[in-house]
Amino acid sequence: MTGSIPASPLPPANDAVLVTGGTSGIGLAVALRFAAQSSAVFVLSRRGDSGLDDLDRQVSERGLTRPTVLQGDVADRDRLLAIAGELARDGVPLRSVIACAGTNVRQPALEVADDAVRRMIDVNLYGVFQTFQVFAPLALARPDSRFIAISSFNALHGTKLRAVYSATKAGVSGMIRALAVEWGPEGATVNAVAPGVIDTPLTRTYLETHPERADAAVDHSSVGRLGTVEDVADAVTYLASPGASFITGQTIAVDGGLTSGSSWW
Ligand code: NAD
Repeated sequence: MTGSIPASPLPPANDAVLVTGGTSGIGLAVALRFAAQSSAVFVLSRRGDSGLDDLDRQVSERGLTRPTVLQGDVADRDRLLAIAGELARDGVPLRSVIACAGTNVRQPALEVADDAVRRMIDVNLYGVFQTFQVFAPLALARPDSRFIAISSFNALHGTKLRAVYSATKAGVSGMIRALAVEWGPEGATVNAVAPGVIDTPLTRTYLETHPERADAAVDHSSVGRLGTVEDVADAVTYLASPGASFITGQTIAVDGGLTSGSSWW
């Protein structure tokens, strides 16, 4: 026991964070948490800085500083390198890199088209690795950097129609373990958060067209509800905080108990 003041469970103010996929769903909730902490927030969006109604509404309702929106695709390495160059030139004190961008095509394994397979690998696996690899030199210059990927409960729990998606998310869990070992000596922590079923633009149509599956997801959770983007943002915010400096290489399920077990026995 040192008797020192416990480390804060919130990210430090006045640092910078990059959130891919940060203009909708989980990524947006994460970006706004950091904005509320006075971080300089950069979000990567494929469509650029227009038509971001959800982001603009929430920024205005909460009186936050609007995140800087950078146009880019996580599968476009040259674009990521150009952005990293700009951040370095501007002396941005990047501390946290949050890889939220993801895509999912739900189809039987015998039917899923090759371009969908490649797209899921490009965005969910290659895109996460590129995001971390390209921005790491900036973040690792600090003694306390944070790398957090949004994985999925499908990394831990097999479900039909999601063979490739599950493979990419399980791959992320392997990746963050290895990066935790490589970058730990630089003071970095590298973790993944594995959400359960969360109501976002990625799942909304599926949940609306299959209400019985939404009900099943509630029934299979231990806490009896679907997740919210704020549930996931809570975990990400904590992992980015000084209080989480001893947690690394972990995939933390934020799934209401979907992967903890079931009550059928
Ligand atoms: P979402 O569709 O609201 O967010 C995904 C974001 O990623 C979007 O902003 C999209 O534009 C962006 N994106 C997709 N491809 C991109 C690319 N190539 N380059 C840059 N940005 C790209 O959905 P969400 O549910 O908030 O998803 C966020 C993450 O959470 C994803 O990685 C997803 O796999 C994961 N996840 C979601 C759930 C869920 O139930 N919603 C469950 C487990 C995991």
